[in-house]
Amino acid sequence: AKKAGRNTLRFFDPAMQEKLSVRASLESELRYAIEKHQLALYYQVQVDDNHRLIGAEALIRWIHPERGIVSPVDFIPIAEESSLILDVGHWVIDTACLQLAEWAKSAEKKHLMIAVNVSAHQFRALDFVQSVHQAIDLHKIDASRLKLELTESVILEDVDEVIAKMHALKALGVRLSLDDFGTGYSSLSYLKKLPLDQVKIDQSFVRDLAYDPNDAIMVKTIIDLANNFRINVIAEGVETELELEILKDYGCRLYQGYLFGKPVPIEKLQFSAI
Ligand code: C2E
Ligand code: CA
Ligand code: CA
Ligand code: CA
Repeated sequence: AKKAGRNTLRFFDPAMQEKLSVRASLESELRYAIEKHQLALYYQVQVDDNHRLIGAEALIRWIHPERGIVSPVDFIPIAEESSLILDVGHWVIDTACLQLAEWAKSAEKKHLMIAVNVSAHQFRALDFVQSVHQAIDLHKIDASRLKLELTESVILEDVDEVIAKMHALKALGVRLSLDDFGTGYSSLSYLKKLPLDQVKIDQSFVRDLAYDPNDAIMVKTIIDLANNFRINVIAEGVETELELEILKDYGCRLYQGYLFGKPVPIEKLQFSAI
């Protein structure tokens, strides 16, 4: 009885209660965030080895009237637990395509790509390919400017089905990047099975690259593997010149990270060489 009492007490832990209620209210508010125009895409530059802009990753933010800027880390997992992620994901792709249509009008910007994050739940939806197709048609964009960042979690499901879907996306002309590479469960054998244009080295491997020999080996291995499979490779979380030098030395040619720029609202994106 004493034990049960203790457990009951734990249930009334005020900190946990507070967390739960924040979560419940975020979920109900998120339901209306799109209609109220509270979602925004920030953009973080991606550059080549001449430090020239190749495009940007779109990273969602929730501009909340009371809470301020809410990080995707705090609301994407909540959205993922319901069909809300489908609405959010659709909004992200539509907004990115609208931006690509804008860039297409400019001679200096028409070659730039936008990478968007696709959650596993969103990818699994039956009409996912069709919804990407519709966004491309609606905004009359060159599909090859749109890059979808998929995480290894999409591959956990029926692999053949996932591969078929990826081929259908490739047939539309969009590019596919495998995000957070090395952090998940997928085996190396997937790399040759999946129709990928790019793998992205997760920032957790780049962070201590200069000091941790295990991370250095991991990064070097991913780069060699990608280069051998003729898949391009981009490193995220590049913060220092030293990290950049090591990545270059290892044969990585594309980079993203605070060294080049933080995610910013579109009007603050820097288009000149960095
Ligand atoms: P991610 O896709 O791995 O994105 C990279 C995260 O690292 C971003 O965090 C970015 O701001 C941050 N970052 C970039 N460069 C650096 C750096 O040099 N140093 C450090 N310390 N961090 C850096 P952010 O914007 O908070 O996004 C977090 C995660 O939320 C993303 O991780 C992605 O999984 C998810 N996310 C963001 N936008 C979307 C979206 O539109 N849809 C979905 N489904 N998920 C999204
Ligand atoms: Ca990403
Ligand atoms: Ca990452
Ligand atoms: Ca570092």
